[in-house]
Amino acid sequence: MSRILITSALPYINGIKHLGNLAGSMLPADVWARFKRAQGHEVLYICATDEHGTPAELAAAAAGQDVRTYCDEQHEIQKKAGEAFGLSFDWFGRSSRAPNHRLTQHFADVLEDNGLIEERVDRMIYSIDDARFLPDRYVEGTCPHCAYEKARGDQCDNCGRLLDPTDLKDPYSAVSGSRNLEVRETRHLYLLQTRLESRLREWIDSRTDWQPLARSIAYKHLDEGLIDRGITRDLSWGVPVTRKGAPRPGFENKVFYVWFDAPIEYIAATEEWAEATGRTWRDWWRLDEGAEDVRYVQFMGKDNVAFHTVSFPATILGSGEPWKMVDTLKAFNWLNWYGGKFSTSQGRGVFMDQALELLPADYWRWRLTAYGPEHADSAFTWEDFQTSTNKDLADVLGNFVNRIVKFAESKFDGVSPEGGEPGPLEAKLEADLRAVIAEATAQFEAMEFRKACQALRAAWVLGNEYLQVAAPWTAFKTDVDRAAVGVRTGLNLVALFARLAAPVMPFSAEKIAASVGSTDLSWPTADGPLLDVLPARQPVAAAGVLFAKIEDAQVAEWAARFGGAET
Ligand SMILES: [Zn+2]
Repeated sequence: MSRILITSALPYINGIKHLGNLAGSMLPADVWARFKRAQGHEVLYICATDEHGTPAELAAAAAGQDVRTYCDEQHEIQKKAGEAFGLSFDWFGRSSRAPNHRLTQHFADVLEDNGLIEERVDRMIYSIDDARFLPDRYVEGTCPHCAYEKARGDQCDNCGRLLDPTDLKDPYSAVSGSRNLEVRETRHLYLLQTRLESRLREWIDSRTDWQPLARSIAYKHLDEGLIDRGITRDLSWGVPVTRKGAPRPGFENKVFYVWFDAPIEYIAATEEWAEATGRTWRDWWRLDEGAEDVRYVQFMGKDNVAFHTVSFPATILGSGEPWKMVDTLKAFNWLNWYGGKFSTSQGRGVFMDQALELLPADYWRWRLTAYGPEHADSAFTWEDFQTSTNKDLADVLGNFVNRIVKFAESKFDGVSPEGGEPGPLEAKLEADLRAVIAEATAQFEAMEFRKACQALRAAWVLGNEYLQVAAPWTAFKTDVDRAAVGVRTGLNLVALFARLAAPVMPFSAEKIAASVGSTDLSWPTADGPLLDVLPARQPVAAAGVLFAKIEDAQVAEWAARFGGAET
């Protein structure tokens, strides 16, 4: 048994997440956490809402709330949505809580002690009417290159050029529209990443087992050359800037940049968990306090890789303290909505809460895991969702389970029958199953979720093929013992399929197991019992419809409501 620490990228606080966010970090992290727990390992799966920064302030203002109240509400909404999707966080924390404030201030202190932080003067746009400095993307104006009138301060969406907000002609505040702007000088703390480049490269060189996507993104950033990074902002909502526990002179109205404090919340959320449960957190994170044997795995979308391979490691390495760093990093591509992006404003795509109004979590969990954006971008379409639900879940898995359990109910008094001896057909089935389970295990170990799900489906297909040949409904008329072997084997297959489905479809797995009186959802071992686990005369009872087919009319209705092929 090993100790495994899992984190998935922290969802930002402003609003419930869409299926793409779910598919690219939280869901695969959950599937893998469940797989590892089912193998008997000690797993700690940590996530949290990322709550600081300008977008939270502006979203709160738009909602007519103070930012604390807004974040309180939004955190609860995201927490409930995660639970409803079966995301098995051991802790779902908040970056705005005290542990993250303390740790962020601690890291800034030790980085400065190590000569890696200095104060610099920036020139930034100040909006007099808004009474605030404007981050780059909140200044808009006319592009100096192409004359596009709604260019943002960081980039022109029309010609694609990167901009500095002071480049814009006729700039105005995206917050209020005010043109009453001026450039002001403001002091900020800079993390001297340029001094950490060789240590970062050495560390990344040592991470030989990272997937190619993560390594190539990390090297791209190193090869382009690191820049010293501003880690404070002129805002009021965030971690206050302190020095050795006291407000830092001249920084009373500033906070740490959200990208500096957010990854530190991985550690701080573990502290929240420890406080809430009476456990210890340092033995998960400090190499000098027991974390040497921890394996740390991070899940994220590809846009987050640079922060996890360069920015956050720069904080950790620069501290000179023995913190646990990531061992395995699993990055995902984009889930698109048909050909384009999910869009809240255009009403394209499904959000987590809406999805569960349409269908139970496991339908989505299967689709997004078995056909997720793993090695390339992938598209969600209603038509493909209908196909995978109807074929994989209803026809192959659900039908198998209900058919054999109902037959046992009608012909064998609702119990797993005794009598007869397994023969060559059952021996072949078991050999084939062991091969498929070995494949599923290897693919889950490698975090190859699509391939793992293909192996699961292959196991269900083997069960259906076995029943076709064993045909207990035919054998029952001439050879009851032979039929009993077929039914008993089929019911044991049901128990096995529940165990195999559990990491991806935890709700259905419980129902499937319960239909044959089992509660065992452990992952099968290479040589453990497979087809003789149910006790003799074990009562069984069909679970009702496990997976309902998606009808064409539903596809049409959902496409009209959430967008489809024609939009
Ligand atoms: Zn332009």
